[in-house]
This record gives sequence, structure tokens and C-alpha cells, in this order.
Amino acid sequence: MLSYPGCKQYMRIRRNPMEYTETADIGRRSILILRRKDGIYMRYSAAEIRNALNNNELCVYYQPMCVTMTGQLKSAEALVRWIRPDGTIIPPDSFIPEAEGSDLIMDIDWYVTEQVCRTLEKQNMMPQYPISVNFSRKHIHEKNFAERLASMMDKYDLPHPLLEIEITESAMVDEEALLLDWIISIRKAGFTVAIDDFGSGLSSLQFIKDIPADVLKIDKSLLSHNCEDEKEKIVLESIFTFAHRLHMKTVAEGVETKEQLAFLRSCDCNKIQGYLFAKPMPEKEYLELCQTYRGTDEFNDILEVQSTSSSLNLLIEAVLYRYPLIIFTNLTRNTYYAMAHQDFTSTNCPSTGVFDELIEHGVNSMHPEDRELFEATFNRENLIKEYKSGTKMIRLTTRQLGDDGIYRKVETVDCFVSSDYSTDIIAITLCENLAD
Ligand code: C2E
Ligand code: CA
Ligand code: CA
Repeated sequence: MLSYPGCKQYMRIRRNPMEYTETADIGRRSILILRRKDGIYMRYSAAEIRNALNNNELCVYYQPMCVTMTGQLKSAEALVRWIRPDGTIIPPDSFIPEAEGSDLIMDIDWYVTEQVCRTLEKQNMMPQYPISVNFSRKHIHEKNFAERLASMMDKYDLPHPLLEIEITESAMVDEEALLLDWIISIRKAGFTVAIDDFGSGLSSLQFIKDIPADVLKIDKSLLSHNCEDEKEKIVLESIFTFAHRLHMKTVAEGVETKEQLAFLRSCDCNKIQGYLFAKPMPEKEYLELCQTYRGTDEFNDILEVQSTSSSLNLLIEAVLYRYPLIIFTNLTRNTYYAMAHQDFTSTNCPSTGVFDELIEHGVNSMHPEDRELFEATFNRENLIKEYKSGTKMIRLTTRQLGDDGIYRKVETVDCFVSSDYSTDIIAITLCENLAD
């Protein structure tokens, strides 16, 4: 018999090849994971699951996430398993859907969170890697959710950034406002939030852009063609670009092959999680990994392995430090796209829209004495005239009202650029706060 913390004792059982398809190694013994061959998991009643919870038969496994470029261990995801007294391991898909039908799922998630706190506490004397916990969408309705999380972490004296909350993309279909407030309150309490299973359902890019999450977890279904299919590659590349532009970190799930890894490296995906690196493992094994894992030295310098997209992202980061607001304008089509540094708070304007409206917004947030000059310089008609007369760059300093009600000197530099793809007149605006 083997035992491990928080679980009942279990023993090895024989494999029946007709019915079961997966095994997991725990210590030196091979344990069966109950799963029907046709892919349909066995279902259990809520009463049976409740019993399992009360009898400490629910156990937390940990699946490492590693840095895509270097392979170094970075964090882990907590995944619940039900280990029956006879040693059978029941995967979450066999009981989580039933538990989600009632408030039972809330108790399971909190139970898992407490186990995670205990695991993190055991890492006290070793490198502490953050752990992600899956929370059902039902928690969106839970009063004082963030406070409860905080007090649980505080009880174990754990820094809040060590816990990440995963919520599935499907939770976003309705109740958007509620979800938004929920996420804001969690992040305010110092935890990070990941959008799970992105791309598995009907993703709303419109909605994701408004969700203030830290991490986007790309669903494994998007890697189903081994990253060799041209269209699959285009979709993935644009998701990573989109996430990085929104300042979200990215994780690719279900990475099983070297081909997938090679492609994900070229996309500048931050972390990977999948069987290629490690399967979910019991706590003891995970803690051993945390202590001993040094990562592969093969790819230690990001500059040696950088792809075009990663070097561009690094460059953009550097330029955004210098100019916290950059606006791309198509003067011919009267459109713009703005990129702002994470810390840039003044002048809340939409990131894309009609350029004339952006200038109007700018004029309204300008010191009254500067309005006329700003409007005369940056109105579209004048910019097109300047471009046609050969001007390369326009520079103007004005006083602009920040969100905090204070006027600051802002230097605005417009550069006209040409594109290989179009004859439209394009300008790039670099904005910088000047010292008083
Ligand atoms: P998930 O959050 O998307 O978790 C990732 C699932 O993908 C895990 O399945 C993991 O074992 C599996 N996986 C990881 N790498 C690979 C790979 O390379 N290839 C393949 N084919 N699969 C991979 P698992 O552990 O069976 O969990 C299934 C789902 O159950 C989770 O999906 C999550 O939605 C749910 N779940 C697990 N634990 C909890 C929990 O504590 N609370 C809640 N609410 N849901 C949980
Ligand atoms: Ca998850
Ligand atoms: Ca997932």
C-alpha cells in the first residue's frame, strides 16, 4: 500500500485493457486511471462525490508549466483526482460535470485551493512556483470570493501572487458585467487570473479584449493539427499577437510534440503545459521536481532563440517605455489603432476607432489655451496637406489633462510612413509626458 497526504491509502489494481486506456506512475507503482475506451467517462452521483470529498478521497495532482523558450519550470496547475479506496484513480471529467450541477463544485474548488496552500507552504524552504487553481463559473456569484481567497492564503502566510485563478472561456458567455467585477476584485487582492480553454468554444474577441485577465491559456484543440497546417498556424499566430498586444501572458496547453513546441517558440508563447514536458503528478513527485529541476541549458539565452515576432515584441516593449502612447493612423481612411504602455493611464480613449473622433477627444482633454493650436495641427486635413508638401515629421508640445485631473506637458510627434502594401497615407504618433 502507498499513502500520500490528504488521501486515503490506495493500492495497485490490475489493468483491464478492454475498459481502461490510461495509466499514471505514482512513485514506482503503476496506477490505473479509470476511463472508458470510447472516451466517455463514467459518471457518479452527487451523493457519491460528496462522500468522496468528506472522506478525503479527492487528491490534487500538479502539472508543471514551463517557459517555452528555455524549458525551465515556471509554475503548475492543480488538477483534482478522485482516488478510490481500492486505488482506482477517477479523472475529473468523470465527476466535475456532475458536481457543477450543484453547489458541490464550490466545496470541491475550495478544498483543492486549501490543498494547494498546503503544498505551497511545503515549498517554504525551496523555490516557490505559483500554482493555478480551476474555479467553476459558479464562483462568480460567490459573495466575498476574493476576501475568502485572501484569508486562506494569509492563514498559511503565503504571498498572493503565488495563486492563479483559472476560469474557463465558456464562463464568459453571459453575465459579463458580473464576471468583470469578479476578476477585478481578485486581481485587486493580488492574485492573477487566467482565461482557460481559449479557442475551445465560441470565443468572443470583442469580450476578451475587455477582460482584465493576466493570462490567456490556449486550448489544446487549437494544436490538433500538430502546428503543421497553414491555416492552424495563422490562427495561432494571430491569437498570440492579439494576447501580447493586450499585455496578456500566454500559455499553450496540451503540447505533446516537438513540432508544436518549435512552432510555439516562433510565436513567442510564454509558457507551455503538456505531456511533452510532464503529465499531472502527485504532490510528492511535484515537490521533488521543484527542488531538483534546473531546466535544460540548451536554450538559455532568449536572444539566441528569438524569433522575428519575439524580437519585435521586445522592441515594442522598449519603445513603449520611451513613448507610453503610440497611435497608428490611416489618414486616408480616417481610422486609428492605439497602443499604450501598461502603466499609461492618462486620456482614456478606445484602442481603435475613427481618427477625427480621437482628435476631438484630444482637444477636449487639452488645456483651453492649447486647444486651437492642437486642433489646427493635428486635424486630418492639415496632416494630409503636410504629407503632400513633403513634411516627414510634426512635433508639438501641449498641456493635457490626465485621469487624475492634473495638466501635464505632452509632446506629440507625428511621423509619416509609407507601406509596401498600400498607397494610403499612414502616420505614426509618438506621445511622451514631459517633465514640468
Ligand atoms: P483543464 O483545466 O483544461 O486541464 C487540462 C487538462 O488537460 C487536464 O486534464 C490535463 O491532464 C490534460 N492535459 C495536460 N497536458 C496534456 C497533453 O499534452 N495532452 C492531452 N491530451 N491532455 C493534456 P484533467 O486533469 O483530466 O482535467 C480535466 C478538466 O477537469 C480540467 O481541464 C478542468 O476543467 C477540470 N478540473 C480539474 N480539476 C479541477 C478542479 O479542481 N476544479 C474544477 N472546477 N475543475 C477542475
Ligand atoms: Ca485549467
Ligand atoms: Ca484548459
